[in-house]
Amino acid sequence: RTSEPWRDFDRSQVYTADLESSLHYLLRVELAAHGMLEGAELKVFKDFVTLVAKLYPVGGSVVKLMETLSDWLLSLPLQQIPYQAVLDLVDNKMKISGAFLGAELRWVGCQGSRPGLRGYPCSLWTLFHVLTVQHDATPTALDGSGLEGEAAPVLQVMRRYIRTFFGCKECGRHFEQAAAANMDQVTSREDEILWLWNQHNRVNTRLAGSLSDDPVSPKAPWPSPALCPACHEESNGVHVWNHANVLAFLRHHYGASNLNPRYSL
Ligand code: FAD
Repeated sequence: RTSEPWRDFDRSQVYTADLESSLHYLLRVELAAHGMLEGAELKVFKDFVTLVAKLYPVGGSVVKLMETLSDWLLSLPLQQIPYQAVLDLVDNKMKISGAFLGAELRWVGCQGSRPGLRGYPCSLWTLFHVLTVQHDATPTALDGSGLEGEAAPVLQVMRRYIRTFFGCKECGRHFEQAAAANMDQVTSREDEILWLWNQHNRVNTRLAGSLSDDPVSPKAPWPSPALCPACHEESNGVHVWNHANVLAFLRHHYGASNLNPRYSL
């Protein structure tokens, strides 16, 4: 990994290569720790796949694969599915034309300056920020999916995924604590976007200066004044966020038109 060439990137954009790498890692590495998916776990996985199939912001082979996986999971009357069967589908052993998920990690905006830094957790945050913004941009996309009845479907599916499958168990406990405190107060798509932004900043603040902090991409309140000057204000000498401008910035930053396909397969 050390010999991998550095990929130049623009911090004001989001890279589809990071989103694709997150799905590759999630489906082929993280999930592989579960030999059999059953019961509540299986339901959490199905909901995650449905969410991504409905809200992935770019058309093409990745969304086709997620739709195929979602249709297949929903059509199976089984209470148990061996992980190997999921993997066969992800590797497209059924030869469905146009469905494909690359089998390598290509971190771009989530590159670490050394192995072990950034990568998958960065891409998972990125993926869920993108999904909150896409849910807001396409409010009817989840109709008929079984998720449309939840007040904050993207956050709730994220919460259940992180709790059940995320390899970092300590992260899962922290996130569950935060979700239990006030996620049920989120009832609009705008608040879904802002809740995740705020929670992510709380984590950044907690982890600033810790071992996982990459000196090339230090953890700090985000977006920086350089990325979004209008997000920052001062009131009586104290920094305050301008929430309306933060929302507008997040809609733009994580929106479909700001996705950069460079380095994607
Ligand atoms: P990340 O924090 O992963 O951020 C990725 C990118 O998102 C940034 O480069 C930036 O472009 C953008 N971004 C940054 N802040 C925001 C924001 N507020 N809103 C929107 N976009 C933003 N690690 C721990 O050690 N302890 C934990 O408890 C912990 N909890 C976690 C919980 C979750 C749900 C996840 C997904 C990860 C958690 N992690 C935790 C991992 C940690 O948060 C980082 O993901 C990891 O250390 C990599 O950091 P990073 O520098 O790549 O930036």
